[in-house]
Amino acid sequence: MDEVTKVACKREMLLALKTACGSCVMCELGLKKASRDGKEMNPHVFSSMNYSRIIVVGQNPGWNEVLVGSPFVGEAGKTFDCEIAKHGLSRQDFYICNAVRCFTQYNTRPSPSHLDRCEPFLHMEINLIKPLLVVVLGAVAFERFCPTSVFSESLKKIVISPKYKVPVFAIYHPSALNLEDSARRVAFEDQIRIMCALVKALRQKY
Ligand code: SF4
Repeated sequence: MDEVTKVACKREMLLALKTACGSCVMCELGLKKASRDGKEMNPHVFSSMNYSRIIVVGQNPGWNEVLVGSPFVGEAGKTFDCEIAKHGLSRQDFYICNAVRCFTQYNTRPSPSHLDRCEPFLHMEINLIKPLLVVVLGAVAFERFCPTSVFSESLKKIVISPKYKVPVFAIYHPSALNLEDSARRVAFEDQIRIMCALVKALRQKY
């Protein structure tokens, strides 16, 4: 099978996973509509569906994401887009998803149980895409890949996930709360600079 056909097959399989995710009730987050200001939406947001062998993994979708049906389109996503644009990249260079695929009311942190229940989606994506690099945003996503490592000690370098056997590059989650401290903001920009250099070096392979 040639490369183009292989990628087309993988896209089809990702579409099937997206459909399965759209009606998943493996935890209670999938049972409740996402709601705000009297508006109700499907709580599931699977992925950006943009095929790339560089995967970005965040935490879970917020209200902006359920409105659009795509991950990382709110303020944090815009910060990410803006920073990678400075290095000549765009979100089209990445396959973007979250460790947990459903909205949590008030954007609360998903519980370990939510993360465990939702992990089969991540597992299947990793097996299908065979990423050249996984960029994890924040400690919650990092813990899924490297459960025995310390997030703060694993920044600015590639670590191999003992669980998934893939290279992982961890950066701060670009939420406003995370980056309001100016030193953290500078550190985040440096993490993005290194990550973009890595992605450009890998670009010819995907
Ligand atoms: S959070 Fe994940 S496991 Fe829970 S219902 Fe949503 S898709 Fe299913």
